[in-house]
Amino acid sequence: MRVRAQIGKVLNLDKCIGCHTCSVTCKNVWTTREGVEYAWFNNVETKPGTGYPTDWENQKRWNGGWARSSSGKLHPKQGAKWRILANIFANPDLPEIDDYYEPFDFDYDHLKSAPDMDDFPTARPRSAITGERMEKIEKGPNWEEILGGEFSKRSQDYNFENVQKEIYGEYENTFMMYLPRLCEHCLNPTCSASCPSGAIYKREEDGIVLIDQEKCRGWRMCISGCPYKKIYYNWDTGKSEKCTFCYPRIESGQPTVCSETCVGRIRYLGVILYDADKIEEAASAERETDLYGAQMDVFLDPNDPVVIEAARRDGIPEDWIEAAKVSPVWKMAMDWKVAFPLHPEYRTLPMVWYIPPLSPIQNAAQAGQIAMSDKMPDVRSLRIPVQYLANMLTAGDEEPIVHALERMSAMRLYMRALSVDGVRDEAIA
Ligand code: SF4
Ligand code: SF4
Repeated sequence: MRVRAQIGKVLNLDKCIGCHTCSVTCKNVWTTREGVEYAWFNNVETKPGTGYPTDWENQKRWNGGWARSSSGKLHPKQGAKWRILANIFANPDLPEIDDYYEPFDFDYDHLKSAPDMDDFPTARPRSAITGERMEKIEKGPNWEEILGGEFSKRSQDYNFENVQKEIYGEYENTFMMYLPRLCEHCLNPTCSASCPSGAIYKREEDGIVLIDQEKCRGWRMCISGCPYKKIYYNWDTGKSEKCTFCYPRIESGQPTVCSETCVGRIRYLGVILYDADKIEEAASAERETDLYGAQMDVFLDPNDPVVIEAARRDGIPEDWIEAAKVSPVWKMAMDWKVAFPLHPEYRTLPMVWYIPPLSPIQNAAQAGQIAMSDKMPDVRSLRIPVQYLANMLTAGDEEPIVHALERMSAMRLYMRALSVDGVRDEAIA
């Protein structure tokens, strides 16, 4: 056993309201500079939807993540030598600005300077780079939900209704949810494995993945290699950049900016102890549906005296061991089993985990799908299909998702009984 400590995160999607406060505060701190106008280290996507950059989950297109050979060996899909050579001319798997969308602002001055008119003036969009008025916006954040209707006539392929219809057939059965995303600070990162310059490293003390700006040569293999598309090329410096997990704040005992400013209080930070000797085996599990379980096998019980002794032997500081014992990430992922890794089939062993949403609450409650009194709902009847969540969080295995949703329903029922009736209902408890 080789014990290492990792700072991880759980995001409770049941509470995300899609307000983008996290994205904006992150941008203000990290990417207001020239060269990274288009970059969002943290973004919030409407799902189902194409995401940012467009179609990022399509690894057949981008060749991100790890490939497993028939002998069980792993290699990064971007690691082959011919790809490095190909990159000298043009990396075929690199997203372009249109995949991210051109950054735009709004003409707020017009609200104050417009002449008298019958209608209230509007702030039209303009390019954040050229300042020119934009007549047509093909893509943007949460485009599916916000601009999809307005532009559906012009862009028949990618409007909210069509995306939904593709998945579910009937508009009446549609659903949506928010997915905030940041670098996963993976235990087995393909970004670093794909980098020809050895510029990307995982910090020994807390597992944060960083790019050494002195060593980066701008190959951009990391951008293609990261299956979550969470590395951005800075066109001004010629180097790649990514989420730093706000390491200067973590080092001084503060949470990341996105966690501290989250309006929904959905982001939980915590320390996880893991066995570094088990990573390769876990990441090469034969069946994709085993990868969620395999990743859990890597985590070590922070209350086990054998683990604590091994952690001390391997130099984990005492305050990190104590933090691991009370870690909300451990509680939600391992004790309660309500949190899951995003797309474990990419084999990078991501360390930002998600609690699946029960459903759009009001709709589900009105439809009698969420218990208001003593009746437990059938979670398979909730509006967000279990299979959709399973494809996102457990490589298609529905059972762990059903288990988590049932637990969350039971918790909601219990809390409702406590708070609505004011007395503890023993039958429910
Ligand atoms: Fe690297 Fe982050 Fe992508 Fe994982 S999510 S491969 S750590 S950039
Ligand atoms: Fe969701 Fe919190 Fe971000 Fe708002 S600040 S979009 S609630 S994660």
